[in-house]
Amino acid sequence: MKQGQLAVISGFSGVGKGTVIRELIRRNPEYHYSVSATTRAPRPGEVDGREYFFLTQEEFDAWEAAGAFLEHARYASKCYGTPREYVRRQREMGFHVVMDIETDGAFQVKRSCPDAILILLIPPSAADLKERLVGRGTENREQVIARLLKAQAESKLAERYDWLVINDDVERCAQVIHRIVNGCGRPEEDRATCLEIVKQISLDLPKILKSL
Ligand code: 5GP
Repeated sequence: MKQGQLAVISGFSGVGKGTVIRELIRRNPEYHYSVSATTRAPRPGEVDGREYFFLTQEEFDAWEAAGAFLEHARYASKCYGTPREYVRRQREMGFHVVMDIETDGAFQVKRSCPDAILILLIPPSAADLKERLVGRGTENREQVIARLLKAQAESKLAERYDWLVINDDVERCAQVIHRIVNGCGRPEEDRATCLEIVKQISLDLPKILKSL
């Protein structure tokens, strides 16, 4: 059986990765979501084993020591990691595996699985990103600041992604990702324009951070 693809989706906090991934899976049952482990606390409505495996620091360290993670990274003072076995098994069964992970982890995955497809979701603008992140109301001011600072650092890494996709519409974005995974990425998805948007966002972020 043909091995499934590995689609690694990254993007600034608040860009809407979760919503786009849910839409992708809803439309295409051949995708399976890689549930990560984390030491951060669950948000209201999040269920252990569905959004994340919520672990204590000791549990996370034990998983890491046992080599259970395909990749792992720290993000805003918390640990996140991808359980290795699930990804391997699903791909072996022919399912495409989709991951929502930050940049350090994405590059670790690319090193161990060179055929992984790295996709960066970008917001239409920095103001839009702030609106989404502050608007969802799940983080306090310090957490919003930490996440925007991380976005600033991540914006420097955009060029290392195979594909950049603007999340201006959830359905369109899910369709674009599906085409990319199937080797039919849109030639009209203009990489230069996307990189220009990312550059503008990194210029705008300091002003936004000051205003918080
Ligand atoms: P959140 O706390 O908002 O759910 O996620 C914070 C960040 O951690 C997001 O950028 C998300 O993509 C990333 N993330 C989630 N799971 C993993 C993981 O298993 N590994 C890595 N490296 N990053 C992850």
